[in-house]
Amino acid sequence: RTTAQLDARVSVCRACPRLVAWREEVAATGRRAYRDQPYWGRPVPGWGDPHAPLLVVGLAPAAHGGNRTGRVFTGDRSGDWIFAALHRAGLAAQERSDHAGDGQHLTGVRIAAGVRCAPPDNLPTPDERAACAPWLDREVQLVRPRVLLALGGIAWDASLACARRLGWAVPRPAPRFGHGARAVLALPEEDDDERGRRPGGAVHLVGSYHVSQQNTSTGRLTEAMLDDALGLAAALAGL
Ligand code: SF4
Repeated sequence: RTTAQLDARVSVCRACPRLVAWREEVAATGRRAYRDQPYWGRPVPGWGDPHAPLLVVGLAPAAHGGNRTGRVFTGDRSGDWIFAALHRAGLAAQERSDHAGDGQHLTGVRIAAGVRCAPPDNLPTPDERAACAPWLDREVQLVRPRVLLALGGIAWDASLACARRLGWAVPRPAPRFGHGARAVLALPEEDDDERGRRPGGAVHLVGSYHVSQQNTSTGRLTEAMLDDALGLAAALAGL
């Protein structure tokens, strides 16, 4: 199976009744600023390089961002931050991404959300996170990244849980999330295609505060901090 096939399958998932209702209600109602645009209103697949050494793991699509444009982090303030940082690092062709046909292109990077449907208040329940976890597992198995860059504590936990399910050597006690935190989740001798580990190196996890407005507007996350975390992840990924 390819990432394109995975994308097609995930985009029709209806496993979480609350999120299906919310994503479709938001799509039907829209927002005045976007009233001339049809909303995607479905699960938002991962996007970017299908064999990326660096997989950025987000929380969930924004109701009027990815849930509108159909592309993760595209068309919302959080996306403005992550795409600008990727562009500064030479990993994105454009510093902004406003819609899915905007010519944006990622080099060596793929972005996926731990939960693929927009949740009310940007907060999926534990059951919804668990229901969506197999999609992240399959994405990691297909992409085989060298580095997971987790945006926020929920994405950090989702990445650790994914690594455990895939049978990687997750340290105990579990590494704690923090901005710039890092951990080795799989060792070089554990290379194994089936489990999403590419030959020739360890698999690393790097943490960054999420690029949410709550963090960026308060200065909890600055551009310099984001550049540092992304730079570390890119260097570990060989980018
Ligand atoms: Fe399916 Fe994930 Fe959306 Fe739940 S959140 S409906 S598991 S794609």
